[in-house]
Amino acid sequence: MKELKMKQSSSEQISTNPLIFDIKRYSINDGPGIRLTIFFKGCNLDCAWCHNPESKSSQAQKLYSIGKCAMCSACVNVCENEAISLTGEGIRTDQQLCVLCGKCAEECPTNATEISGYSKTIDELLEIIDREKTFFETSNGGITLSGGEPLLHFDFVVRLLDECKKRGIHTAIDTAGNIPTERLIEIAKRTDLFLFDIKVFDSEAHKFWTKRNNNLILKNLKVLSNIGARFQIRIPLIEGVNTGEENIINTAKMILELDGSTKRVDLLTYHSNGERKFEKLGKELNHHNLKSPSSQRIKEIIDTFMSYGIEAQIGG
Ligand code: SF4
Ligand code: SF4
Repeated sequence: MKELKMKQSSSEQISTNPLIFDIKRYSINDGPGIRLTIFFKGCNLDCAWCHNPESKSSQAQKLYSIGKCAMCSACVNVCENEAISLTGEGIRTDQQLCVLCGKCAEECPTNATEISGYSKTIDELLEIIDREKTFFETSNGGITLSGGEPLLHFDFVVRLLDECKKRGIHTAIDTAGNIPTERLIEIAKRTDLFLFDIKVFDSEAHKFWTKRNNNLILKNLKVLSNIGARFQIRIPLIEGVNTGEENIINTAKMILELDGSTKRVDLLTYHSNGERKFEKLGKELNHHNLKSPSSQRIKEIIDTFMSYGIEAQIGG
């Protein structure tokens, strides 16, 4: 795993390929079987509860965790741009001077400094994917492209999906669906499964929590169902955002109107891992005090979906 999270060299940074911030092996929550999940940087929503805030920007970013910092000055000494200074409260990086060369992260003995975002060519990714084929074959698994929003990197994703198809590898796309419809249709010709996020049903509320309305998203889901694409709907459950009964009922009614796919939703409960990442990015936390609904409320939500004939389960 460590091997897959390798830091980029300067030459890799120059590539025009999209940046990746993680590649997870043995993933069991991103589609059927055992999966290799590739996380792309860049997103066109801005969800208040994002648990991967480093995915929002398509650019490389420096992460710093003061809790891991040994105050050894190795990063200060290696930085040719004199962008780092050691203070009583850990290191400070001057963003104007930092060129994201990654040398400080390579030098850091404790991984307190990391660079999020590295480039891989299609061939390099295929090499990694091919190494997992035994797991895919024995578990009916495959690869999942996630993010961020992987479909922002349309041309790259199309090429990767085409190569996987040639190799008989099952593919899934984890998407928020906020991309041009004609592009989604092209992707539907090439992928086996969409993991399609529905965040909030009401469009204005969606805009409040994600900075974008959901008109295109809901239209795209309908189109996917019309053309017979396979999809699983995923709903992140965040107390006070989308756990009210009205939102759940409206979502259930919308799902009932979709053609084809099994009537099922996967419910993803909020976790606070993203909050630590905001700190590592040196960004302010949102002030919404977000949390997961109680187990009692989750049970009620499952019951509501079931009462509409929709299978609902935690995870997926
Ligand atoms: S990424 Fe490079 S330029 Fe930026 S602080 Fe680290 S060593 Fe200096
Ligand atoms: S090299 Fe790592 S551990 Fe040492 S001062 Fe820099 S961030 Fe801290």
